Amino acid sequence: MKKFDYIIAGGGMAGLSLAYHMLHSRLDDRQVLIVDRQPKTENDRTWSFWSRESSLYDSILYRQWKELQFHSPGYSKTYALPPYRYNMLRGIDFYQHTQMALRKAPNYHFLYGDVSAVNSLPNGAEVVVDGQAYQAPWVFDSLYLPGQFKPQKGRYRYLWQHFKGWIIETQDAIFEPQAPTLFDFRTSQKHGMQFIYILPFSEHQALVEVTLFTGNLLSDEDYDDALQTYLREVLNLHDYEILETEQGQIPMTDQPFPRFPSPYQMTIGTKGGRVKASTGYAFLRTQHDSQAIVRSLLDHNQPTHIPRDRRRARLYDAIMLEVMDRNGERMAEIFTDLFRNNPIDRIFRFLDEETSPLDEVKVFASVPSRPFIEALFHTGFRSFK
Ligand SMILES: Cc1cc2nc3c(=O)[nH]c(=O)nc-3n(C[C@H](O)[C@H](O)[C@H](O)COP(=O)(O)OP(=O)(O)OC[C@H]3O[C@@H](n4cnc5c(N)ncnc54)[C@H](O)[C@@H]3O)c2cc1C
Repeated sequence: MKKFDYIIAGGGMAGLSLAYHMLHSRLDDRQVLIVDRQPKTENDRTWSFWSRESSLYDSILYRQWKELQFHSPGYSKTYALPPYRYNMLRGIDFYQHTQMALRKAPNYHFLYGDVSAVNSLPNGAEVVVDGQAYQAPWVFDSLYLPGQFKPQKGRYRYLWQHFKGWIIETQDAIFEPQAPTLFDFRTSQKHGMQFIYILPFSEHQALVEVTLFTGNLLSDEDYDDALQTYLREVLNLHDYEILETEQGQIPMTDQPFPRFPSPYQMTIGTKGGRVKASTGYAFLRTQHDSQAIVRSLLDHNQPTHIPRDRRRARLYDAIMLEVMDRNGERMAEIFTDLFRNNPIDRIFRFLDEETSPLDEVKVFASVPSRPFIEALFHTGFRSFK
């Protein structure tokens, strides 16, 4: 039987973030075990996020921008971001950087194997890896084991953020390297809310991604068709080389994720509800969560003293999901009003759950009221009673 101070089940984004924050605190002398089924050696995703603050990852950011573009039929604007920045961090850089630092610490251990269970014990919890049990007073769990998530359809909403992107290289100077495109709604809305997202690396190279917030995934041909149509008809681009492909799906739901499913087990990352339900952004929220967990462990010797999710923000997420689900084809119009009628910092603060009630009134007054009132009526109260 092997014992540790903390076991982190899942060494992906959330698990490595928590371990890395522990290493940068007075928890650096604890015995920590990080378990994953694989060493993270692939560039399997990139994380983008806006932020006003510096982070532990500033030295490995792949790009940082001070402007963002918004486009829809009939409306285009470039926003100056400061004091915010829009950041891009490549998965492979994050995995290499954090794993290298953690491996240098003799008391931080990696174990590669398949976790089949996280079990509660009288004074702690155990993680079963390839049939062998490992114990600790606390287990931090980012794993979805079969049967653990039970959707409650009818009470909560379930959409997917699903996307496919190409890193493309062009002969002509097409892209504006100083200004990514957060939303370009000049694309078909026949499947529901669909937009194009562009991260430019130079005038000749960019990640161009088609993204949907809908209940159903598309076929591979549908994503390809949307990308080809956009490049041809909006960017007037006929000649390009595809260097890399990124594809993924992120669950968007307002169903609460229990943070403490058993007395000494805490969920983190996606499993801990750190994906913002209405946007799919999780990276920065997970960093804040990791900081809060470390602070709680240092001050109280347990991770339970962390800020609670704001009730109001949960209600807004539920309403946004309902509006997207019911009014997919109107989202271009709704987002255009949102971006036309609000300064960008109010939108960021709203999505970061930092706004005052007055700011929130201004946000909701800036968009067509009917879909939001209907959404509130149909579901908002149902899930919050
Ligand atoms: C393609 C993609 C792009 C994204 N882009 C962004 C973005 O730009 N900005 C943003 O904020 N968010 C983004 N997200 C959302 C979110 O940040 C990521 O999904 C993030 O990786 C979630 O972290 P996690 O630790 O919960 O899950 P993961 O990073 O997936 O980590 C889970 C880990 O558990 C391991 N594992 C699973 N089951 C087992 C088992 N039984 N035994 C052992 N190990 C196991 C896996 O190997 C994995 O390493 C993106 C998501 C995807 C899929």
